[in-house]
Parts: sequence; C-alpha cells; structure tokens
Amino acid sequence: MKFTDSHCHLDFDELKQDLPNLLAQCKQLGIHRIVVPSIDPSNWQSVLSLANENNSVTVIAALGIHPWFLTELSEQALDDLANLLAQEHSSICAIGEAGIDVPISEQQSNLTKQLHFFDYQLQLAKQYRLPILVHHRRSHQHILALLKQYQLEKSGIIHGFSGSYQQAVDYLDLGFKLGVGGTISYPRAQKTIETIKRLPLNSLVLETDAPAMPLYGFQGKSNTPLQLIKIFEHLVKIRSESAETIAAQLEINNNDLFAR
Ligand SMILES: [Zn+2]
Repeated sequence: MKFTDSHCHLDFDELKQDLPNLLAQCKQLGIHRIVVPSIDPSNWQSVLSLANENNSVTVIAALGIHPWFLTELSEQALDDLANLLAQEHSSICAIGEAGIDVPISEQQSNLTKQLHFFDYQLQLAKQYRLPILVHHRRSHQHILALLKQYQLEKSGIIHGFSGSYQQAVDYLDLGFKLGVGGTISYPRAQKTIETIKRLPLNSLVLETDAPAMPLYGFQGKSNTPLQLIKIFEHLVKIRSESAETIAAQLEINNNDLFAR
C-alpha cells in the first residue's frame, strides 16, 4: 500500500534536523508523497527548496499565509506571494495553508484582516488552478461563504477537519476533501469520528500536521510523518471497507488534487 501525507511541516526545526533519514523511513513504510504547506513569507523559500531537492519521497510545496501569522504582515506580503507564484508556479502545487481562525476574544479580533488575506489567496488559487489547504477554527460559516463564492476548479483540503456531518457535506458539495489526522485517535473526538465514518471514501485524505498534532498516547511529544500509518489504522477501524480499498481510494483522492 502507498500513502500520502497531505499536510506535514517538514521544514520545521523538529523534523528538518535529520530529514534524509526521516524521509528514507517514510519511504520504507510506503509513504511516498508529502505535501508541505508554508505558514508565512519567512518559510516560502525553504519549502520551495525542499520540494526542488532530490528527496527519497515526493515533496510537494504549498505557498500561503496561515491566519495565525498575519498580524505583522502588510499588503506587501500578498503582492510578494503573487509575484513568487508568477515566477515559480511550476514548482508550486497548492496554496496554503490559508484560512480563518476566529479568536475567542472579540477585543483582539483581526477577523477583517484574516478575511481579506484568505480572500486574496482564494483568488490566487483560482487564477493558477491550484487546490487550497484550508485551516479552520470556529470559522466554518466564514469559510463556506467564501468557498461558495469562488467555486475553485481544483477545490482543496479542509485541513484537520472537525465538525458535524452537515458541515462536512457542505464542503463536499463544493468538491473539497477533508483532512483526517491524529484527532481520530482521541476517544473524546466522537463527533468527528462519527462524521468520518459516514462520509464517502472519495472525500477523505490523511495528514499528520507533524510536528504538531501528536496522536493519543503521544501527547507532549513532537509528531512525525511516520505516524501517518497509525492514523490510517485508526481510519481502517472506523470504516467498513478493507484496508487495501481504503488505501487505494485515498491515493486516488490525493492524485485528484496533486498529480500533474
Ligand atoms: Zn499545519
């Protein structure tokens, strides 16, 4: 069986120290492709150069601005993103990660700026016919409204999906796939587990979000893309199809988004 980690921050310090060794271990486990999202202008070049290196697995670059990291950024960052895409679009396979993370406290809300940055990145995804990797937190309504407006040809992934069945179906109706990660290893995540059990298999992709999002039993430790196999095993327990059927369909789903 072959696997794709559709969301992994390989360029972060925790993972990049011994990257050739880590990627060789991934390959041994059948993890043959890893999508690396960027978070802000400071790591665009490192993500791009990772994807252009001769790695033992296929590394796919996504360029974007994560909603957590836009406080210090001006409009210039969006122009820079557009320029870099224009120059390097043959090496860039997705926009992201981008999205909306609604703060709990209204006082410090930068929601207007987040909406503007997400809207701009959706425009770029549309212009370059790229999928977008979407970060969400307390923001399904905002995100759905914008996705409905843009109707992206290549859709994208709702990264680290958690939510109700109806929210999931709303994304599926727009052609989006849902990123299934370590959340499904947590007994407290019953709502998300029940949702993922009921959804069509052609709507799911796996992700580790390493070094973040450790699985249940690994809390406090740094996550790695090798854990993708454990996430897959949790998914197999939840679903009724065979492991082989699930793995094959997940690969088709990733090819829909990332194969060139
Ligand atoms: Zn991430």
